[in-house]
Amino acid sequence: MSDIFDVVIVGAGAAGLSAARQAREMGLSFKVFEAKDRIGGRTFTDTASLGMTWDRGAHWLHSADVNPLTKIADELGHPYHRHDEGSFYRHLFLGQKAGRPVWADEEAYTAYREEFEAAYDIAHVQGEAGEDIPVSETLDPSARFYRITRHLFQAICGGDPEDLSAVDFARYADTEKNWPLERGYGALIAAYFADIPVTLSCPVHRIDMTGANVKVATEEGTVEAKSVIVTVSTNVLSSGAIRFLPQLPARTQEALEGVPTGHANKVAFAFKREVFGLPEMSHPLAIDEKKPARPALSFQIRPFGHNMAIAYFGGSEAADLERAGRDVMIAHARGMLGDMFGTDIFKEMSGVESTAWTTDPHTLGAYSYGKPGKSDMRERLSEPVGDRLFFAGEAVPLDWYSTVHGAYVSGMSATQKAAHYLGRGVAGEASA
Ligand SMILES: Cc1cc2nc3c(=O)[nH]c(=O)nc-3n(C[C@H](O)[C@H](O)[C@H](O)COP(=O)(O)OP(=O)(O)OC[C@H]3O[C@@H](n4cnc5c(N)ncnc54)[C@H](O)[C@@H]3O)c2cc1C
Repeated sequence: MSDIFDVVIVGAGAAGLSAARQAREMGLSFKVFEAKDRIGGRTFTDTASLGMTWDRGAHWLHSADVNPLTKIADELGHPYHRHDEGSFYRHLFLGQKAGRPVWADEEAYTAYREEFEAAYDIAHVQGEAGEDIPVSETLDPSARFYRITRHLFQAICGGDPEDLSAVDFARYADTEKNWPLERGYGALIAAYFADIPVTLSCPVHRIDMTGANVKVATEEGTVEAKSVIVTVSTNVLSSGAIRFLPQLPARTQEALEGVPTGHANKVAFAFKREVFGLPEMSHPLAIDEKKPARPALSFQIRPFGHNMAIAYFGGSEAADLERAGRDVMIAHARGMLGDMFGTDIFKEMSGVESTAWTTDPHTLGAYSYGKPGKSDMRERLSEPVGDRLFFAGEAVPLDWYSTVHGAYVSGMSATQKAAHYLGRGVAGEASA
């Protein structure tokens, strides 16, 4: 007779791997299936493509002073940079005048900062008051720095302000400590979970809960389990890539659609030498005040001393540029970078790479946001289905959503719930 596992875990990102580790600690038998040929999911440190270390996905330990993965980084000797100020954006590019770059002076920088902080605070106040309205209703599109504010909401939340619930936005627990990992977030996750057995390149395509045990079907056959933890993104779940028998209840489907996976992408430029004239770990923001149709962008310049510039896109702009093609996305970032530092810098360029999280069939996006009127859908995703199907992943936590640490904690919590169902543990016990 084949093995019947206590739990099958679908996906080996931060959530699936922490669910598996928790299962091992609780003495549960488990099996992890991962569609990709690597672990880590939306954490992936790339050391090969440009000859320099950069994260294609997650990079910052968000809320780093309370993030449980910060302690793990310390234990494993993975260094990070402490940005202790509230904002790490210190340079603001405003476009060109007579062919010369114009950078904001102290007065313009302060004006931007005040405008952004006021917009952020108003969205928070509305959300905290329970106003489940679109964040866009709290913003003023005629404000001078509106495009930057819009860009920052898109980058932080993955969605456009019109699509973001103010309540969901306000629930995110932000300590404003965001510390980038020198060797990469992907490298940290890969190192910490290196000893978790995972069946790679093995997508799950059907989860059948009609019998006494759950039958999980993959390209390499079917396994049976008493419970199943699914950690794939909400967009992958909504796409029907995994067929559930019986179908997921309507209330679960509504929850998945209420918390879609938003969009974010990066373009990374590598250079043979220092070309920017900015200190390492700089994060300039850029708008073109003369061209209102040109979207704002943010950059990481010389991260950890690497001669790189990494452009960051969020929301519909990230998705649209990705769909338009790699060359279009690169040209967009390159145009702004050339305006900022002069096109001569490209004579020193040694390579360029871009990400494509929206069209990646295993993610179909970057991180989740709650839609207006749907702020309670994350909580619904944390409910078990038929007592033995549990969802985990970055879309599930109420306050640490969208993040690696949120995914990590949700994985442990799902295993505890599964163990409780199996009569093997107490729900709510954590072992982080
Ligand atoms: C560009 C970008 C920047 C980001 N920046 C940050 C940051 O700085 N800090 C931060 O905290 N977070 C950041 N995030 C978000 C963070 O990466 C995610 O929230 C987190 O990694 C999600 O983990 P997860 O386990 O929930 O999902 P995933 O990592 O997506 O794991 C799910 C896994 O399931 C697999 N899978 C899919 N379909 C199947 C199937 N049918 N069968 C089996 N396996 C399947 C996928 O391949 C994937 O490995 C960023 C994300 C992106 C894309």
